[in-house]
Amino acid sequence: MTTTSMDAVPADAVPTAPVLELRAVTKVYGSGPTEVHALAGVDLSVRAGEMVAIMGPSGSGKSTLLTIAGSLEQPTSGDVLVEGTSLAGMSAADRARMRRRHIGYVFQDFNLLPGLTAAENISLPLELDGLKARKAAESARRALDGLGLADRADSFPDELSGGQRQRVAIARALVGQRRLLLADEPSGSLDSQAGENVMRLLRSACKEGAAAVLATHDAQLAAWADRVVFVRDGVAVDQAGPAAGPESLLTADVPR
Ligand code: ADP
Repeated sequence: MTTTSMDAVPADAVPTAPVLELRAVTKVYGSGPTEVHALAGVDLSVRAGEMVAIMGPSGSGKSTLLTIAGSLEQPTSGDVLVEGTSLAGMSAADRARMRRRHIGYVFQDFNLLPGLTAAENISLPLELDGLKARKAAESARRALDGLGLADRADSFPDELSGGQRQRVAIARALVGQRRLLLADEPSGSLDSQAGENVMRLLRSACKEGAAAVLATHDAQLAAWADRVVFVRDGVAVDQAGPAAGPESLLTADVPR
């Protein structure tokens, strides 16, 4: 891993290389009169153990930033580095491998495959990455166990509640020691308790050394982050932080 001189480390922090770096990233959709500058030169660096919340109005570029950070889309210009490796120079196959191995996605619709059980949804990416089926199944069951879903391992997605499906999607994102976790409006239409649970899980993954980037409208979720980056019209306009901290949310009206 490499460090860059740009990334100042506070004196009391353990110095670690950034897990994710965006350098002058732009994204233009369409061309001519329909051209949209979804990202207009974004710099962002997220270290291991750190959680960054991206906030901004609808259409400001939050989802685009996450999909580009996760190599699901290519930037128009600029560079994305994951664990010090530039995505621009990678073959499509290497990028796919890197996604399976290092990046966990918690996106709004959960994207569980309906024909696979909870455990199979989690073990599939591990198997695709070359892990033996039995080992992958063991890891999947451990991950489900850790999220209180051991007894639902053999259930299909349509037999699970919204909250349970979400936990399966999170287990899939966290399994295999992924280093970069990307969450787009992870609370979605779920209640505040479920949203808080997602944040707890992401935080504990960060404690284990992952870096997390979370796009949200919800200031209560953003308060769990170490840092909040505000995006407007595709530009990161302000990098505030640290946020208030989760303990500020533990008021009487927040269920525990
Ligand atoms: P946010 O997540 O903050 O709501 P998005 O990243 O989804 O914002 O969108 C940023 C801008 O890019 C918007 O103007 C949106 O309409 C546009 N956009 C996003 N994805 C596409 C796409 N695939 N094709 C064309 N325009 C897009």
